[in-house]
Amino acid sequence: MLIVMDQSATTAQIEAVNDSVKEMGLRPEPIPGSQRTAIGVLGNQGYIDDSGIRNLPGVREIIHVSKPYKLVSRDFHPESTIVKVGEVEVGGELPPVLMAGPCSVESEAQMLASAKAVKQAGAHILRGGAFKPRTGPHSFQGLGVEGLKLLRSAGDEMEMPVVTEVMRIGQLDDVCRYADLIQIGARNMQNFDLLKEVGKLNFPVLLKRGMSATIEEFLAAAEYIVAEGNGQVILCERGIRTFETATRNTLDLTVVPLVQQMSHLPIIVDPSHATGRRALVPVMAKAAIVCGANGLMIEVHNNPAQALCDGAQSLDGEEFSSLMKDLQHLNSCYKR
Ligand code: PEP
Ligand code: MN
Repeated sequence: MLIVMDQSATTAQIEAVNDSVKEMGLRPEPIPGSQRTAIGVLGNQGYIDDSGIRNLPGVREIIHVSKPYKLVSRDFHPESTIVKVGEVEVGGELPPVLMAGPCSVESEAQMLASAKAVKQAGAHILRGGAFKPRTGPHSFQGLGVEGLKLLRSAGDEMEMPVVTEVMRIGQLDDVCRYADLIQIGARNMQNFDLLKEVGKLNFPVLLKRGMSATIEEFLAAAEYIVAEGNGQVILCERGIRTFETATRNTLDLTVVPLVQQMSHLPIIVDPSHATGRRALVPVMAKAAIVCGANGLMIEVHNNPAQALCDGAQSLDGEEFSSLMKDLQHLNSCYKR
């Protein structure tokens, strides 16, 4: 439930509403906003009888929110959230942030060469998977903690913050020690225990959309993190499973402007996992920027033909550099 106060409501009137909410056993949450004063009501499991609040002085309107997400919704938080990853800021009207690097950390030489390529081209955040959620158990599973260390040292050498995936709670300590941004992959979007645990951290999180998740389920997953107190969540569209098999997934770009209407959280796009095809990655990356994405995540490998994972969708340094030039041009057209 959302209680919208008159613009002229006094502090005492707002306090009286807060007290009534508490008396009902619920939690009032002040909602900052330049246009209005509002109070979010949390802690209910069903419909709230608002008769004790509706007629209090200063109350203009009561909106019943039946969605499974509230804290991440724009109704509850009209201003866009800016998430800080190291010194890099993502969200709102800020220019798009580029996260790039190999699918997996494979070796010191591969990680460093890939990191140099993306840094030179102008990427802001370095990616690299150390714990890999592979479809089959015989595929390369990642270097684990050794991979985290190689990613960190490549990031330090290139002066870039780093993002890497966590698959289970037991990996969180290590990932937080070496990374600047925790990635929760598509396969774990509804791993509710993991979501709650990262929600207890004071650490930015990149939450990828589950391959069969609706937008409501996607936002509800983010709500799990925010409800535990961690508001630093970046969403990522990475393609969804449809009847189409010509591409690895189907990139749902509609989600970008839609989520930006529904939620205050930043949303980025991963055209690499969405398409699965190197030739489609640059054009879909540009399309995502035109749709208003707050950033991109792109797989770049120093030698895609030799990659241990996702080589077919990885750009090499030159292809990435050429994409970055196009993106700079696009950004100047869109004045972001
Ligand atoms: C990844 O980014 O490395 C990855 C595995 O992506 P997704 O979870 O979107 O499949
Ligand atoms: Mn990959």
